[in-house]
Amino acid sequence: MYKPDLSNKKDDNNWYGKTFLEITFPQFWQHSFDTKNNFYNYVLMEAKKHIELFNLGKEYLEEYNICDFWQRHCSVCQKSITTNINETCYCSIDGFDWICHDCIDKVKNQYSLSILKDVEDIPSKGFIVLNVSKAN
Ligand SMILES: [Zn+2]
Repeated sequence: MYKPDLSNKKDDNNWYGKTFLEITFPQFWQHSFDTKNNFYNYVLMEAKKHIELFNLGKEYLEEYNICDFWQRHCSVCQKSITTNINETCYCSIDGFDWICHDCIDKVKNQYSLSILKDVEDIPSKGFIVLNVSKAN
């Protein structure tokens, strides 16, 4: 199964003063799919890598289903974050760290995080692309 490479995971203390984007799934994914925005292309890129790695057919790149290849884990509690979770979650502006709805209040004040609300897309530059590798 797909597993993002977190080998260069940063120390939590690097969160201090960081900006996080408030993102609500699945609405954010639906909007991304409809507008083919930066996040859509980001998910598509990961789906392509995955399909190449596992020699899957190109039909997997069609339509809405490419989001099935995208998954992150909350950097605090490790809970799975997917595009169909029905939950508001938060990602660092570089896309590296994701924090779930349950954990954000715990760390928001601790690290003086700034939260950007009403986010319609991820930044066009600087969003970290994770390596796709086969799970052990
Ligand atoms: Zn969490």
